Amino acid sequence: MGHLDRLYSQLPVWAQHGVVSIYGLYWYWLRFGGNYQQYVKGFTERDRFTTADWRAFRQKHLRQLLHIAATQVPYYRKDWDARTKAAAIEGRLEDLPLLDKEPIRSAPRAFVRDDLKLRRPLVFHTSGSTGTPIATYWNIQEFRNSMALREVRSARWANVSFSMPRATFSGRMVEPNPESQGPYYRFNAVERQVYFSPFHLRPDTAHFYVSALHKHQIQWLTGYAVSYYLLAKFITEQGLRVPPLKAVVTTSEKVTPGMRSVMELAYRCRVYEEYSTVENALFASECEYGRLHTSPDWGVVEILNSDGAPCEPEQVGQVVTTCLARTYQLFVRYRLGDLAMWDSQPCPCGRSMPVIKEVVGRIEDVVVGPDGRQMVRFHGIFVNQPHIREGQIIQESLEQIRVKVVVTEGFDDADIRDIVHRVQQRLGVRVHVIVEPVSEIARTPTGKFRAVISHVAEQAM
Ligand SMILES: [Zn+2]
Repeated sequence: MGHLDRLYSQLPVWAQHGVVSIYGLYWYWLRFGGNYQQYVKGFTERDRFTTADWRAFRQKHLRQLLHIAATQVPYYRKDWDARTKAAAIEGRLEDLPLLDKEPIRSAPRAFVRDDLKLRRPLVFHTSGSTGTPIATYWNIQEFRNSMALREVRSARWANVSFSMPRATFSGRMVEPNPESQGPYYRFNAVERQVYFSPFHLRPDTAHFYVSALHKHQIQWLTGYAVSYYLLAKFITEQGLRVPPLKAVVTTSEKVTPGMRSVMELAYRCRVYEEYSTVENALFASECEYGRLHTSPDWGVVEILNSDGAPCEPEQVGQVVTTCLARTYQLFVRYRLGDLAMWDSQPCPCGRSMPVIKEVVGRIEDVVVGPDGRQMVRFHGIFVNQPHIREGQIIQESLEQIRVKVVVTEGFDDADIRDIVHRVQQRLGVRVHVIVEPVSEIARTPTGKFRAVISHVAEQAM
């Protein structure tokens, strides 16, 4: 815990609301000051770009970016040989090597360009939920540009706006006391934003969350998908009523069709999924037709097969991104660790931004059978398990799977047998399955939920 965090944790709740609002003033300027409106206009205009427009846009910006990488960024200057640099300067992305997380984790500043040193860049840290925390460096314009992107392609596509009162589930430690009796949120009066704590959400605290929505007349929700899903379950189970909401825009975790219908029932509005990363290497959002469009003005997205060649539509491959919008710290052909596939069908909305048919999972979420078969979406075993509130699958070895479950009343041996059966059905009867009822499933340091943790996937891929 840093100095400021310690100070914050010692304040009474009313003072914490105040601090959040004062801090909110600074963030408001950071997010929506300067050229923000101009950036919004740019994204809005490009919404209707044709495929040819996008091709021209990509060529121009990619060439500029790769030129900077080859000449101004210490990592690429050192790591790329003369031929690679020549390919970069000619804008031939496909001839450049892929970039892993490790070099960024160990020396993030080596990716910052030399010719634009800032005394105080903005620094954001990824959660490290995958074991590889990364520091990213931004200038203020890039950050505002990223907010404009979310306004245009997430909020407005969902018929809402960051100027409307909203609630957010994020990794911010707004309630430092784990034993707190509530409230489990802090209110930023400047943006009329409720910051919910994902760490305190339980059946017995759910009504506090709902009453915060009423009290502050919240109109839309954004943030962690799993937190909103759990809150939705509690709302339905307990017959709680939410105020009229316009949309839920989820981030972070993947939304399954089951989660979506539970949320739409409880919140009585549509759910829109946003697919992005903390390092903002990629951005995709859901249009009115429910399709996930990537934003080519944010970056180039590639989906590659095991030979490194582009996948055909409907073929699963690894996601590799080159962010065009961030030119202070440059990530070129960055391996996100996600698996996804392109859609073969154009979207009826008429936008020519490429459509991701499905984000299949993360590479480290892949569960591997003793015979080598690989499966994503393994947490599907929890579908239609009425006595399980939350479940997590941990692959400890090729032969052993531990299933942690938070159960409701009525859970018994038949449920355990059913889980064991479902796992063995997928991986074979040789697999030893341990079902472990627990009181809660630990979140990552930033409050995210991981449905699957595999200790063998990385070696197997
Ligand atoms: Zn569309």
